[in-house]
Amino acid sequence: MTVDRSTLLDCLADWGRTVEKFHRLPADRQAAFLLRQGYPRFGDLLAHVTGWWQEGIHVVEGARADAHFVYAEPDTDAFNARVVKHAQGQNEAALEAQFEAMRVRMAHLVEESPAEVLAHPLAQAWLSADILEHYEEHRLPATVFLALGSNLGDRLANLHTAVDALAPEVRVWAKSRVYETPPWGYADQPAFLNMAVQAETDLTPEALLRRLKQIEVEVGRQPSFRYGPRQIDLDILFYDDLVLESDVLTVPHPRLHERAFVLVPLLDLAPEWMHPVLGKSVASLLTGQDQSGIHLYME
Ligand code: ADP
Ligand code: MG
Repeated sequence: MTVDRSTLLDCLADWGRTVEKFHRLPADRQAAFLLRQGYPRFGDLLAHVTGWWQEGIHVVEGARADAHFVYAEPDTDAFNARVVKHAQGQNEAALEAQFEAMRVRMAHLVEESPAEVLAHPLAQAWLSADILEHYEEHRLPATVFLALGSNLGDRLANLHTAVDALAPEVRVWAKSRVYETPPWGYADQPAFLNMAVQAETDLTPEALLRRLKQIEVEVGRQPSFRYGPRQIDLDILFYDDLVLESDVLTVPHPRLHERAFVLVPLLDLAPEWMHPVLGKSVASLLTGQDQSGIHLYME
């Protein structure tokens, strides 16, 4: 495998996002997140990433200096032991500052480096072994928000069946309350029950959409027309802060910002969540929307 500059920059950006993502998690999820990633404390994660980058800089600078190129660390345990030793006694704020400085410096070096630096065999070996492997291994699940709606059959049961069907690929962390809402788009049909869930998943956006469509069929959705009555409708509202537009899928959901019946349940879960295209929070998207006819159906 040949690692190019943009791959490395992607890796660095992804690690930056890991740390940001940690900060954005609800406090009661942070410990579980770290444990799953294999770090007892947040400082351990920072120290580890910073450690790699330090070594990365060593490699890149070494490759550039060429004569001084000495680095090769085949023993991960020895490397980790050095990182731990280095981090001991430092507080998290100090580690965080170091992390950021290191990230900027590393990205800068790679941007500045001539192509031969990244093509250097040792740099390549280090990058593929240490960064990419770990990057794959520790690839984070995405945080997603999904909207659920039903206006046919036992509406509440349909919502619950669909939420239960999400596991194990989609792990639900939080559910909004259930709201009864007037039909939208096509008025001559029964009222809807709507809710939203916050979840995490390793599925790609496309795979997630396929899974949601399967669940729609499992719950008994019959073919209907757009905006027509349905046992269950499952939509992807947000997928991290991803912006995506393809033939089958648009993320964030293209109409979420104009639908109070989506935003009201979402407000229960994440009033501060930013719409990555509109640059507004869920709470501010709801401001001024017509919420008449929407009422709480179940806590
Ligand atoms: P709607 O949800 O708009 O009432 P459907 O559930 O019938 O209508 O969905 C129509 C199509 O919209 C789906 O087949 C899907 O391919 C597409 N779609 C585009 N973006 C999304 C999204 N973010 N979530 C769910 N479906 C989406
Ligand atoms: Mg839909």
